[in-house]
Amino acid sequence: MLFVLLLTPVTAAYIHIPFCRRRCFYCDFPVSVVGDRLNGHNSGTIHHYLQLLIEELRLTYYGLNHPIGQLQTIFLGGGTPSLLTESQIGQILQTIDQFWGIAVNAEISMEMDPGTFDFHQIKGYHSAGINRVSLGVQAFQSQLLAVSGRTHTVEDIHQSVKYLHQSGLENFSIDLISGLPHQTLEQWQDSLLKAIMLSVPHLSCYDLIVEPQTPFARQYQPGETPLPTDETTAQMYRLTQQQLNLAGYCHYEISNFAQPGYECRHNQTYWKNLPFYGLGMGAASYLEGVRYTRPRTMRGYGEWITQLQAMIHQKPLPISIATHPHTPLDCLLDTLMLGLRLAEGVDLRALEVQFGSLVIQKIIDGLTPHCNQNWVVYDYPTHPPLSTGFPIRMRLTDPEGFLFSNTVLTTLFHVLSVK
Ligand code: SF4
Repeated sequence: MLFVLLLTPVTAAYIHIPFCRRRCFYCDFPVSVVGDRLNGHNSGTIHHYLQLLIEELRLTYYGLNHPIGQLQTIFLGGGTPSLLTESQIGQILQTIDQFWGIAVNAEISMEMDPGTFDFHQIKGYHSAGINRVSLGVQAFQSQLLAVSGRTHTVEDIHQSVKYLHQSGLENFSIDLISGLPHQTLEQWQDSLLKAIMLSVPHLSCYDLIVEPQTPFARQYQPGETPLPTDETTAQMYRLTQQQLNLAGYCHYEISNFAQPGYECRHNQTYWKNLPFYGLGMGAASYLEGVRYTRPRTMRGYGEWITQLQAMIHQKPLPISIATHPHTPLDCLLDTLMLGLRLAEGVDLRALEVQFGSLVIQKIIDGLTPHCNQNWVVYDYPTHPPLSTGFPIRMRLTDPEGFLFSNTVLTTLFHVLSVK
């Protein structure tokens, strides 16, 4: 397979803040549980982690061995970053700016959970540089929040959204989960309508995945009650597309909807399979076509930072403990899997440059049955000069193509894996 590795300056960074008050019953993220009373003001663990993170930022900067661009997007995720104080968030951003540089109009997002911040706190985050918030709402029904192990109440959600509107931090998103145990189609519709009524500019609507090693995996079997049936979750997906489109949201990614101008810039980096830094416990970077991971426990992360400090004079500094070997086929499949999440789909001309025309022909031939099902569509050039005859873009239809995206990806995997 022809493969051209394109070196792109890295302009996006994900920073992991691994603290939560409790662990939600469906969550398998690398997080450290601090309980209801501890936060950035009074937790020694959070304070210690911050020192490690700042050190990682510094060491990574010195150990870099690839093109550096000013950061255009930063995403502080978790975990619950809003457990940190305004000055702690400010310290992280100042360190990033000092070593890496943050572009003037950068998008700087932060995940927050309802009930973990007040009006003054959000004003403080805003002053520190945060200009986009992702709020972990998940559901607007008390019983579903309780079933999921969420720590916040419905009242907390309304209060948090009020604070966001009052603070002037208007660029925010809420997360909702469909397919929760005991969730009905009516409850899902109610959550969507409530979000619309709250003038939320961006929504991320995820279908529940029962991850192994979670309380949900011990309690529930996929396909069995009280989990909604596949048919019900498909109806939820179709309903989401209808309701949000009617309310003026653009369905720009398989799980994401935005009012015009509120699309998340940071996540485009992932969906377009572009390089990014991932920093902090359990975070992964994607640099020069290779994925790098970090330890997922606090102890392992601390030990790794100590090792890096000992190797500071080594060039390039091994800024990872594990690498996932990335073959050209892995890279192609990642590009397709991620790009087909976007409503605009995948740029086939760029793929042709990177992987060659034989690969494009293989993809088109392999996906013919799904074109006939109207799950996959192509865009052709409208103006001369005409290309080689290939379409210029490939997309999944909305909602049916998105709904059956796993089937399309399985087909792609098979046709591209055959020599
Ligand atoms: S708040 Fe988010 S990161 Fe924390 S336990 Fe719940 S789902 Fe996981």
